[in-house]
Amino acid sequence: MRSRTKVLSLLCVSALAFLLCCCGMPDPAAPAEAPSDGASATDAPEKIQPQGMVYYAYFDTVSYVYDYAGDSAERFADRSAEVSHILENYHKLFDIYHEYAGVNNLCTLNRLAGGEPVPVERELLDFLAYAKEMYTLTGGQMNVMLGAVLRPWHDCREAAGEDPAHARIPAEEELREAAEHTDIELLELDFDAGTARIADPAASIDVGALGKGYATEKAAQYLERIGAEGYVLNIGGNIRIIGNRPDGSGWRTGVRDPLDPDGYALYIRIADTACVSSGVYERYFVVNGQRYHHIIDPDTLYPAGYYAALTVLTRDSGLADALSTALFCMDFEDSLALAESLEGVEVCWIFPDGEQRYSSGFAEWITE
Ligand code: ADP
Ligand code: MG
Repeated sequence: MRSRTKVLSLLCVSALAFLLCCCGMPDPAAPAEAPSDGASATDAPEKIQPQGMVYYAYFDTVSYVYDYAGDSAERFADRSAEVSHILENYHKLFDIYHEYAGVNNLCTLNRLAGGEPVPVERELLDFLAYAKEMYTLTGGQMNVMLGAVLRPWHDCREAAGEDPAHARIPAEEELREAAEHTDIELLELDFDAGTARIADPAASIDVGALGKGYATEKAAQYLERIGAEGYVLNIGGNIRIIGNRPDGSGWRTGVRDPLDPDGYALYIRIADTACVSSGVYERYFVVNGQRYHHIIDPDTLYPAGYYAALTVLTRDSGLADALSTALFCMDFEDSLALAESLEGVEVCWIFPDGEQRYSSGFAEWITE
């Protein structure tokens, strides 16, 4: 994987555009001279050549770093290497399937659930405290302690991938029992002692709804600290834009159409923001002709049925990621009320019949 990553990191810009088309992400990052899906066709001509890097090793997804600011190749290589380093660090801390030498991560915490407090790095404690904050902000709709419920859904999805003919969903009884072990208070943090603990051996943590966005934000904040402008991070579809293009024109990007994921439902022009979408088309499996996607409503313990997709625009990519999952699990009245209560958050909801609804400021981002 490592050497493959290195080789792929050397791909040129045109290959990046090709990859973006193939992996089906929203695509604000496609260079202006290589439009994909027509998404960049109206961009103003750019004198500065964009440059990009691609990484495959983090969060089970593809990550892109683009520079539109005209940095020297050497400077861009240094900056993107640091971004890669930050992503790698969080990837290891957040991994729930593997442990790594010399570090206690979320896999360690899950393994030692019900036991003694586990010494963890300050970065992990900060993240877990943020996850609790997001639980409170979203009224528990984004709950990183939902692991016991998510695990059987995950296992059924994996099994369905291997053997679609025998695909099944988790038993109701199994889900009800698992839900007894999802209280956010089971996650105990002690900043003085530098420890974290899951207080119930049957409980577990799953940060799929938040980890990528949070790590993306940390990488973006690094770039901001060193004064970078005109950088675009696309970490598995979690887009975070640092500043603007030198000509101030922003990036035109498509919001994927959940009813036809090869196409776009609308276009937005964005700068200096995060843009995160959640949708039923992202990860799912089929049982008896019915589709079961990967965002689980904590109230019903089944895939949330209100929307086909939604897109969140707000500056902080961690917040955008948390909201993309939480708003998906709330009926429109509550979802809209939460979005409107938050400063600097705009949302586009797409319903299962294709209808679009926007928060009060979202339309300002829409473009032709
Ligand atoms: P993605 O990261 O795939 O774009 P999301 O940000 O919506 O999509 O996160 C979905 C992932 O979050 C799921 O795969 C699962 O691991 C986890 N998850 C699903 N439902 C919830 C929920 N209600 N609260 C917390 N985590 C969830
Ligand atoms: Mg999310």
